[in-house]
Amino acid sequence: MAQVLKGAPVVDAMNERMVEAVASLGKKGVVPTLAVLRVGDRADQISYEKGATKRAEAVGVAVQHIALPEEISQIALMAVVKGLNADKGVHGVLMLHPLPERLSEEEVRQVLDPAKDVDGITDGSLAGVFSGLDESFAPCTPTACMEILDHYGIECQGKRAVVVGRSLVVGKPAAMMLMKKNATVTVCHTKTVDLPSITREADIVIAAAGQVESLTAEYFSPGQTVIDVGIHMNAETHKLCGDVKFDEVEPIVAAISPVPGGVGSVTSSVLVRHVIESALRA
Ligand code: NAP
Repeated sequence: MAQVLKGAPVVDAMNERMVEAVASLGKKGVVPTLAVLRVGDRADQISYEKGATKRAEAVGVAVQHIALPEEISQIALMAVVKGLNADKGVHGVLMLHPLPERLSEEEVRQVLDPAKDVDGITDGSLAGVFSGLDESFAPCTPTACMEILDHYGIECQGKRAVVVGRSLVVGKPAAMMLMKKNATVTVCHTKTVDLPSITREADIVIAAAGQVESLTAEYFSPGQTVIDVGIHMNAETHKLCGDVKFDEVEPIVAAISPVPGGVGSVTSSVLVRHVIESALRA
């Protein structure tokens, strides 16, 4: 039976450290503040915003909600982003995405100040991940994967790690982070031939393919650590699930993160920690 790498203990440990940091900022009269920028009223975005707000407020980070109308122009949206860049009372900006189709996320990415990019979406932030310098904020999801590995004392040095997925927000930065921890990293994608033979050879597998429970028993072998990044609604069971078929894989491997209650639960705490770090740097 595998060790289940739950997110809650990771979040508790992070919260403890964040509360201390917020208290020290408070002595200097600084309240770390996150601005959440939402265009329109998509239910999934409102729900994510509520979750992040709860996490932030629990450790004393303030949240400014900026809800913009669905029909806002690109020019007006850019003006809001520039205003947040200039606002000394705002330490981090989270733009909920996707934006409505007529608006360009790319333009927002180009304009947002990397110093306030707590979600790690700007080129400046990504450059920091690839250079290995901790000057910017890395994307929250792969950072959450590393937090889980660190919290549970899973050694990466000298280990073979396989990342399934090569997106700019999850797969690629996760690979860079594992490399920084001295793992030997293989990145797989839709053109990878015979994926199971590659994942079976790994010590650590990060599953970020975005395919519902597609990584079944044949992809795994005993002794492995599996971090499941996927979040999906299973159409049959109507329950949340990951990229990994948990029930089949958990009896095989040494450790596995669950969905829900794994990576996703740590991601918003990483975001909040970035806001505090931004306030400390400012
Ligand atoms: P994405 O942009 O769709 O990228 C998926 C990647 O997986 C692509 O590189 C794709 O390869 C690869 N892929 C797809 N099917 C594959 C297959 N059958 N075999 C091998 N590789 C395959 O997704 P993403 O944004 O990186 O997100 C990945 C998953 O993480 C999604 O389930 C998403 O919901 C979840 N997610 C979770 C969190 C969290 O906080 N837990 C946050 C963000 C995302 P190609 O490049 O060849 O197309």
